[in-house]
Amino acid sequence: MNGFYSIAIDGPSGAGKSTQAKRLAAAFNFIYVDTGAIYRTLGLACYRAGIDRRDVNAVMTLLPTLDIGIEYNEAGEQCMLLNGENVSREIRLPEISLCASDVSAHQQVRSFLLEMQRKFARMYNVIMDGRDIGTVVLPDADLKIFLTASAEARAQRRMLELKQKGSEVSFDEVLKDINYRDDQDTHRAAAPLRKAEDAVEVDTSDIGFEETFERLCEIVIDKLSVRREDLP
Ligand code: C5P
Repeated sequence: MNGFYSIAIDGPSGAGKSTQAKRLAAAFNFIYVDTGAIYRTLGLACYRAGIDRRDVNAVMTLLPTLDIGIEYNEAGEQCMLLNGENVSREIRLPEISLCASDVSAHQQVRSFLLEMQRKFARMYNVIMDGRDIGTVVLPDADLKIFLTASAEARAQRRMLELKQKGSEVSFDEVLKDINYRDDQDTHRAAAPLRKAEDAVEVDTSDIGFEETFERLCEIVIDKLSVRREDLP
């Protein structure tokens, strides 16, 4: 314990981790750290450089030459910088999701990016989301949540989200991407996605956003012994 609270939220793609974590961070006045965005930024750099992101040597040659930075804007949103350029929007493109999943499968890449993530937990009260936060990045987190949902429920939500942003994609296409990433994220040798033994599991397949948020608030309040009336 370093004087700051840390909350780890792990789970598969599209389970609603980032939306819930952002709202929790605002409600409890924590900093939100989206670790997937770091892998996405590296995925984008590989994509732009045209290198084979499954080739660990190629990725590890590129990685130390990059300046990957995290900044928070006035609205408190996390922005990703790649060599000084704000790439926060571009890293959300579906093709970059797949690049992120590929580069994140390399142990050397994960080790390289570990310290960048841990640094935040030493400086702030954090809510950090990803795949290995409770198991590897912050094994001593004060609270670990495993947020999950069926692949179909996640694909349905992701499709609506993409539609709202103007991308016309079919349900089957989104489900295929989700299954690809699930398979890769859970079966890789390096820090595979799994629920930490001491994590609280919340399955959101059949519950909506508000209900999930309420449930998570209760868990945080209970675990960190904060009182609702003391919240900002
Ligand atoms: O969370 P998000 O979908 O943005 O993450 C993109 C990809 O980065 C995931 O599919 C996963 O492969 C990888 N990732 C990871 N470990 C994390 C966060 C994300 O391997 N802590």
